[in-house]
Amino acid sequence: MIYLGEQNETRIMYSQKAYCYLNKKLFGSYSKDNKEGYKCKLDVCDICSKGFHQLSLGVFKNFIKPYLFEILNVQPKDMLALEGKLILNWIQQGYGSCVEFQNNCKAIFLKGYNTWFINYSINYELAEWLDQHTCSFCNRQYIFTARKNAGAKGITCQFDHWLSKSKHPLFSLSFYNLIPCCSVCNSSIKSTEKFNTNTHLHPYVDKHISNSFSFSYKLNAQSEYEIDFANENHISKKAKKTLEDLGTKLVYSKHSQTELKDLIDLRLKYNENYLQSLLEKTFGDLNMSDEERYRLIFGIEIDEKDYHKRPMSKFKKDIITELLSIK
Ligand SMILES: [Zn+2]
Ligand SMILES: [Zn+2]
Repeated sequence: MIYLGEQNETRIMYSQKAYCYLNKKLFGSYSKDNKEGYKCKLDVCDICSKGFHQLSLGVFKNFIKPYLFEILNVQPKDMLALEGKLILNWIQQGYGSCVEFQNNCKAIFLKGYNTWFINYSINYELAEWLDQHTCSFCNRQYIFTARKNAGAKGITCQFDHWLSKSKHPLFSLSFYNLIPCCSVCNSSIKSTEKFNTNTHLHPYVDKHISNSFSFSYKLNAQSEYEIDFANENHISKKAKKTLEDLGTKLVYSKHSQTELKDLIDLRLKYNENYLQSLLEKTFGDLNMSDEERYRLIFGIEIDEKDYHKRPMSKFKKDIITELLSIK
């Protein structure tokens, strides 16, 4: 998994838009006939300049209004407590049941994700602001955004909901609950697992997430090399659970006979250490940084903060480092 950085500017830009959208859906547009309606203080706001069909959510709209900013910006570790507090208040104030609370959340937040966030290309905008080039979970697939024309759609990442949007619809549009990733990780792997910051690492929380484990290899019963983790006993419980539930070994397993084998061959198949020769001799005496050598020879980034820019950077860097350490 890859740390996504602080991303504070992006969070502020995104949550401002989502805040305007939610208020417009709940209260309609401000006008002399709708004094309760919403309009933000910005001179130009591409959300407030649009008309959205107002929902009629009864008492829920005034109940949830004071919490909208907090819901959009809540830190991952505080999400479940905020949800619990709101459900308790809702029930204690006699507004209705837990199920009714969740149904209201589905009508405004989950529907907002499925319609506004996707149909109005907010996913493209958020992806462009985040500027992550490969999947935050696997670092195997490119997820960058490219539009057919300015403003049009094209290709972009998927957003995984760290806390599932069906079980926790309140956080369907919350910034730290939206993790840019590839479709394999989003739909085939992570969708089945229950994630929680007490038991799993989080790509917005754990700064050294990429260094919480190292890729390695071993010989299997068929005497073939296969991908493994180094010193599994030293991997923290949280990191282990995260790797298991993201299926990291599974998604990398098919690379054993391709990328892994190529690197091992470069080091072990011949008498000469070609791995070292490539790094030391390819560019002669050119004054070139290690970063540049690895990028040109292996197509990877070796600085943790840049892993996301090239697929399999973390994997190949770990394997190459281990192979170079063999005397
Ligand atoms: Zn606005
Ligand atoms: Zn992925």
